[in-house]
Amino acid sequence: MIQSLLIANRGEIACRILRTARAMGIRTVAVYSDADANALHVRQADEAVHIGPSPARESYLVGEKILAAARATGAEAIHPGYGFLSENAEFAEAVIAAGLVWVGPKPDSIRAMGLKDAAKARMIAAGVPVTPGYLGEDQRPERLQAEADAIGYPVLIKAVAGGGGKGMRRVESAADFADALASCKREAASSFGDDRVLLEKYILSPRHIEVQVFGDTHGQVVHLFERDCSLQRRHQKVIEEAPAPGMDAGTREAICGAAVRAAQAVDYVGAGTIEFIADASEGLRADRIWFMEMNTRLQVEHPVTEEITGVDLVEWQLRVASGEPLPKRQDELSINGWAMEARLYAEDVAAGFLPSTGPLKHFAIHHHSRGGTRIRIETGVEKGDTISPFYDPMIAKLVVGAEDRPTTIAALTRICEKVVCWPVRCNAGFLAKLLGEEQFQYGMVDTGLIARELTRLVPSTQPSELALQSVASVVVDRAMGGTATTTRDTYIQRPASPWSWLRGFRACSDPKQTNVRLTDSKHEYDVLFDEIMPNDSLYVSLEDDGYLVSEDGTSFVLHEARFNPNATGTPADGALLAPMPGRITAVDVAPGAQVTKGQRLVTLEAMKMEHALTAPFDGTVAELPVTAGGQVTEGTLLVRVEKAA
Ligand code: ADP
Repeated sequence: MIQSLLIANRGEIACRILRTARAMGIRTVAVYSDADANALHVRQADEAVHIGPSPARESYLVGEKILAAARATGAEAIHPGYGFLSENAEFAEAVIAAGLVWVGPKPDSIRAMGLKDAAKARMIAAGVPVTPGYLGEDQRPERLQAEADAIGYPVLIKAVAGGGGKGMRRVESAADFADALASCKREAASSFGDDRVLLEKYILSPRHIEVQVFGDTHGQVVHLFERDCSLQRRHQKVIEEAPAPGMDAGTREAICGAAVRAAQAVDYVGAGTIEFIADASEGLRADRIWFMEMNTRLQVEHPVTEEITGVDLVEWQLRVASGEPLPKRQDELSINGWAMEARLYAEDVAAGFLPSTGPLKHFAIHHHSRGGTRIRIETGVEKGDTISPFYDPMIAKLVVGAEDRPTTIAALTRICEKVVCWPVRCNAGFLAKLLGEEQFQYGMVDTGLIARELTRLVPSTQPSELALQSVASVVVDRAMGGTATTTRDTYIQRPASPWSWLRGFRACSDPKQTNVRLTDSKHEYDVLFDEIMPNDSLYVSLEDDGYLVSEDGTSFVLHEARFNPNATGTPADGALLAPMPGRITAVDVAPGAQVTKGQRLVTLEAMKMEHALTAPFDGTVAELPVTAGGQVTEGTLLVRVEKAA
């Protein structure tokens, strides 16, 4: 077994690999760019080496720097994670040439699967069904047009060197083909330095089904069943699950068998994924599932496979890289329960999914496991860290494993609804809504679902009435001398609800008149609050930057612009308290004075504004413990009026 490992990656995947390596007693070495100097993966590793400036092409993508870091620390092996250098055959070769262990497949296997056209040709030879289309050398536009016409529209043009959802064009009709081809070739040339394309029949009602495979250096290859990654936005996966809903045993055997043949055809060692596309217009059928491509690395969504099989795929990678045989035979692997992963991204959904970067001033996921439900939050950041613009904007992977699909969906929804994230915006509210989609709940998924339902999936950009009421409850609690800083406090500290405690406060007037004005950077909200019901997925917390409200996965920060107890019910006993900390600028009455309802008694200056406190009813000034110029804290008794008999 290898004794030391350098992880040539960052973020959640670096932390994920570190965790297993540590559990196996392997010494870990992290690498980091300028932007990641204080990153979690650096803090968690036994050693860390700085490899350059923030842009990945000057750090994480520079093979020589990674090799130098391995030499400097005496690391024996290199794990590339996913992305960056993980599917770079030259880098894999350089690692091996340097006498180090490469935790990944042979460089030739990576090459064989690197170009989409060569990979498909090889799969056809191995008897693996591939999407109908054209793979030819002849790249003349007239020939491509003729082939597209023969395939029948819609047709998908794909750059042979493409990846990450780039370099693809869907063409609806023969008349659009020439323009789409030219634009696809331009993008392919500039993104991949190779403008060759292939053509595929565009599959309608497409589902993305992929199979986890694993090979060892002793010639064994097994599969660890399928994952469904059909919930995508712009060809990027959003929610993944295992097993695939609606997959019957026969279809599973056919597709997993094809995946094993695909891996064997390229002499595969280590963890790999065979991606298929299924025409799901009539459910999943073995004769309507075709090979799309192979990813020769550990996949982002590997945790869902771990949850249903009980296998630690990183542990298997490290064992196989050390020369050990696969820990289990095919007949020792089985599916247990259900698992799902949601990708929590730093993005502003309402602003068209614009990446959102900056300090993660507030970041928490309030979750707890119930029953047999397992929850994994895979992340590379903590509250206080920064989401930098240099890398993938994924904040965390929210992973749930449970006994069945409905339980899994329910648990994952609860987690998404409880994400608190500010001022960086995240997609948790969107994820929660997506999980609640009826089609998804029935397992009727396809890659177009998100785009079709998008308008319904975008969370509101303003807090709900209930959220405003909840903030108001904390504002009022504090103004009335309470110590609540969160909605939880207001419920926990007071036996029944804050309202029972506030009842006296509301007793002598219309309860709907309490006026709290809240603002965010764009809106003002006048809240007339009423009794509110505790809501499990709504959370308010008083922070130094305002009232942080998190509602179904979407966070807001609100400020208290005004609290006016006199506009409301007044305390039955006529006690007027300072609604906020401030300075007494005027005392207009003396103890014992007769006052009439509405008469100004005391003026408080707070937050650069004057607040007049007026007599709630006709009566006498019974208590007046303050003097002009004095400083008062929130909730201080300023004056008490005794009602005239
Ligand atoms: P990349 O390598 O860029 O990720 P893929 O070939 O894996 O590209 O395809 C990415 C996504 O595009 C798939 O998950 C699927 O949603 C869609 N797609 C690919 N091929 C087809 C096709 N023939 N018909 C319909 N959709 C497709």
